[in-house]
Amino acid sequence: MASRAGAYVYPAVDHAHAFPTLTSAQVARVRDAGRTRRVDAGEILFEPGDVNVPFFVLLSGGMEIVQPDVHGERLIATHKAGAFTGEMTMISNRGALVRARVTEAGEFVELQSPQFLALVARDAELNEIFMRAFILRRILLLASGHGNIILMGSRHSAPTLRLREFLSRNGHPHTYVDLDIDKDAQSLLDQFSVKVEEIPVVICNGVTVLRNPSIRELAQCLGLNSTLDPTQVRDVVIVGAGPAGLAAAVYAASEGLDVLVIETESPGGQAGSSSRIENYLGFPTGVSGLELTNRATTQAQKFGAKMRIASSVTRVNCDQRPYEVTLDDGQLLHTRSIVIASGAQYNKPSIENLAKFEGQGVYYGATFIESQICGGEEVVVVCGGNSACQAAVFLSQTASKVHMLVRSDQLSDTMSRYLIQRIEENPAIDLRYCTEITALTGDTHLECVTWRDKRTGASETHAVRHIFVMAGASPRTDWLKGCLALDDKGFIVTGRDLDPVAKQAGWPLTRPPQMLETSLPGVFAVGDVRSNSVKRVASAVGEGAIAVSLVHRTLAEL
Ligand SMILES: Cc1cc2nc3c(=O)[nH]c(=O)nc-3n(C[C@H](O)[C@H](O)[C@H](O)COP(=O)(O)OP(=O)(O)OC[C@H]3O[C@@H](n4cnc5c(N)ncnc54)[C@H](O)[C@@H]3O)c2cc1C
Repeated sequence: MASRAGAYVYPAVDHAHAFPTLTSAQVARVRDAGRTRRVDAGEILFEPGDVNVPFFVLLSGGMEIVQPDVHGERLIATHKAGAFTGEMTMISNRGALVRARVTEAGEFVELQSPQFLALVARDAELNEIFMRAFILRRILLLASGHGNIILMGSRHSAPTLRLREFLSRNGHPHTYVDLDIDKDAQSLLDQFSVKVEEIPVVICNGVTVLRNPSIRELAQCLGLNSTLDPTQVRDVVIVGAGPAGLAAAVYAASEGLDVLVIETESPGGQAGSSSRIENYLGFPTGVSGLELTNRATTQAQKFGAKMRIASSVTRVNCDQRPYEVTLDDGQLLHTRSIVIASGAQYNKPSIENLAKFEGQGVYYGATFIESQICGGEEVVVVCGGNSACQAAVFLSQTASKVHMLVRSDQLSDTMSRYLIQRIEENPAIDLRYCTEITALTGDTHLECVTWRDKRTGASETHAVRHIFVMAGASPRTDWLKGCLALDDKGFIVTGRDLDPVAKQAGWPLTRPPQMLETSLPGVFAVGDVRSNSVKRVASAVGEGAIAVSLVHRTLAEL
């Protein structure tokens, strides 16, 4: 049976697959790769939040995996001879989620992280067993809603929504306590004098209490980022972990390049906010953007790509090589080449009070979290492109009615035919052309929406508490201005398109720019951020992969 955490339905997990026992031949191969050590009953091998946690295989004795929570400890698994520790954090090198305690003295094989990664790189059979077990163990934690973090918040608070999305997009298991429902939790916070503006409260690793933390503070507390060595000169820094950046990371790391990916929020980009991608090759029944990009993230990390999340690149110093990249916390990094995959961000139409209700009734993406927040209620979806249509279809499964408001007299010319048909045939979607929002009202949360038919001038006001705005996207290139050639809309010009502008942009080499290369040699642009790109997941992935072969050529020139 599938299990539920909040609203998302996770696939059923076979316990035997999540916690398999290795054969003696498999144990022998692990033993050759590490060191054997004696352990004593009661010994703690690692705690939640610990980083660089070793991998253990039990030769004899026993251990238990538990998770500390507000009531003490929750047992997750017991291990005997032939069993092994670890879950996804072994691959991502992030802080551990659980506590490991020896229950019976014996001998364990211990592998440090580099030894473990080297073993799975050369042993395909063990690679498959460990990878499958780690993924299934993470699904078990996600499905039970138990992680090393408790998030106490309100569905009416924009910061709560932001943190929940961050955790969910990072596939990080957590317990969510809804203060609107759990009155005991609310009185607990009252006793500790937690003010309204300090909501949400996060308890991290059962120890640290954070009041209304930023995403960066939360990432730091969870050990999501390892320390970066500022003296290291990398082969390639990838800016952005949407489909284009993730594809570049997978190919670069699998081809032996030293890769660092920097991502402002969580991996996934725009695709991560797509409820169902139906036109991506190989997924005839569609795939959620989150699932696709989470898999890609794991794949990149498995090949050794390093990833820094909740961190932005704010500047590239284009006057020197190796290039110098500045992060928003002031850190400087050096790299021989750069792949810019910073994509695009939602446009915000000029509607009065739009900003006031962001996260409190106004949303720019429709993931399962938003779909649950507005379950059973009427919602409005604004604009008529592909992503708006996807959102309307998706929301119609949980909302009582979807008002789809399109400013023009037809759905976008570039829209997929299958989506148009689904909108037109869906009885839960009320499609209105030539219609625009004229007023948003409410106290702290959106309560009423007024819209006007431009043809007749007739206005209607509805008690709608949730609107989804999907008004196209603009390139995320502000941080690059003055450094490389951009087109009149701010997208990055590359390859042959540079010909007319290359001279003005000061192209310094005798060879012409390569395909996807910007006006700076060794700096490439891929995906939605590139001028004249096709705004699709598949093309972003393709460009990310191609860019890596061009990076190899650039590195050979140095
Ligand atoms: C709701 C929705 C549904 C969609 N559905 C489909 C679909 O069904 N099929 C399809 O083919 N396409 C779909 N698309 C389009 C598709 O998602 C995009 O074309 C694709 O995501 C582009 O990938 P990208 O990697 O180039 O950029 P993005 O996905 O935009 O990713 C860019 C990443 O870079 C990060 N970033 C930006 N600036 C910086 C910085 N300075 N430092 C560090 N990181 C930075 C961002 O946080 C972001 O994660 C959809 C888009 C949306 C919004």
